[in-house]
Amino acid sequence: MLRSKGYKVEVNLSENIPNQKQIIKLLKKKPYDAVITLLTDKIDAELFSEVPGVKMYANYATGYDNIDIEAAKASNIVITNAPATLSTLSVAEHTIALMCSLAKRIVEADNFVRQGKYKGWSPMNFIGTELSGKTLGIIGAGRIGEQTARFAKNLGLHIIYYDIKRNNTIEKECGAIYYNTVEEVLQKSDFVSLHVPLLSSTLHLINEERLAQMKPTSFLINTSRGKVVEEEALEQALKAEIIRGAALDVFEFEPKISKGLRKLPNVILTPHIASASEDARNEMAEIVANNIIDFLEGRTPRNIVNEK
Ligand code: NAD
Repeated sequence: MLRSKGYKVEVNLSENIPNQKQIIKLLKKKPYDAVITLLTDKIDAELFSEVPGVKMYANYATGYDNIDIEAAKASNIVITNAPATLSTLSVAEHTIALMCSLAKRIVEADNFVRQGKYKGWSPMNFIGTELSGKTLGIIGAGRIGEQTARFAKNLGLHIIYYDIKRNNTIEKECGAIYYNTVEEVLQKSDFVSLHVPLLSSTLHLINEERLAQMKPTSFLINTSRGKVVEEEALEQALKAEIIRGAALDVFEFEPKISKGLRKLPNVILTPHIASASEDARNEMAEIVANNIIDFLEGRTPRNIVNEK
């Protein structure tokens, strides 16, 4: 899209995630007007002062916690994100897939069969739980939380939620009940799913004290950002059976995942792929290109996230 508009486009084809020094070096090569960033690229005040010519960064992701938004505002730099509709659907589907896998113990059972341990049907083999009739607690009822609620409602779950603001759509469409504390949602839920952005207010939103509020039979699902959960506390809670299980698509020290967590049978781990569908990725790319084209042609990009 950018090339067909006549813009010169250079792509860093390296598979290695560049550190900040390398990003600065790459961006100093040419006088770039706009830069497409990934959620692994750290974009902050130092970078803005090192490459002052770049006036726009278009993040190829819904989340933008890799970018210092206040520093960008201070330097008059435009930041956009890419909240694709299909990415929202994809993450909500992944969340439901993780919930089903936890409830039905799919990953544990698959390993058991592969290891040649299946010796015949037994009534108590891999006893799981149904989703239907259970309560799903959603923390962060924005685009993805809302879509997850819709899917979950159709599977027969009751929806409760916590957010800093009410979501009338899920209350009307899904009969979702609002609680104004995280604790109440944790205490009442059989499944807790996190859909908040990573902000200073959501860093370690789930910690030792909050895990202790959850039912011992409950499950935690995190497809938001790793740092929303204090991973060490989660590992201890899983080991001590404070909660029954967890499924994580994102990790506190991504891509590092603690050895302890990897050894636990009651946790499912996926490598930050919740939005990874071909159609979602294409839509994200189109959003990114449109944001840049609008910016370079003097229009206001649709997905600015650091408006003053
Ligand atoms: P959104 O902005 O539509 O929704 C976020 C919701 O969180 C909002 O309703 C907001 O009010 C609420 N919120 C903000 N601060 C809060 C707080 N302190 N406590 C409770 N609620 C709070 O965002 P979205 O499109 O639903 O995406 C949510 C997050 O999912 C993104 O920020 C991103 O980090 C993550 N994400 C992950 C993947 C993945 O591949 N795993 C893909 C896309 C998005």
